[in-house]
Amino acid sequence: MSRNNDAPCHDISIELSALVAGELDEHARAEIERHLSFCPGCQFEWRTNELVWRCLTACKDVDPPAELRNRVFDAIAEYDRTHAK
Ligand SMILES: [Zn+2]
Repeated sequence: MSRNNDAPCHDISIELSALVAGELDEHARAEIERHLSFCPGCQFEWRTNELVWRCLTACKDVDPPAELRNRVFDAIAEYDRTHAK
């Protein structure tokens, strides 16, 4: 059993929002994919983010649950905050 969880789940969940928005470079994406490969919790988070994002961008007629949508927007806002200079 390897314990290569060098990226805390909290950071990952923030980055996931940037990832679905296509804002991450290849290196950051690889880091996240590595984390997802051994972290079921973040896998679930990723699937949720991806689903919500897809609805937001593609299925304009379908309203995702407001709570989920707000979580995504909050995470994006937090990402912007933590990465702002
Ligand atoms: Zn995780």
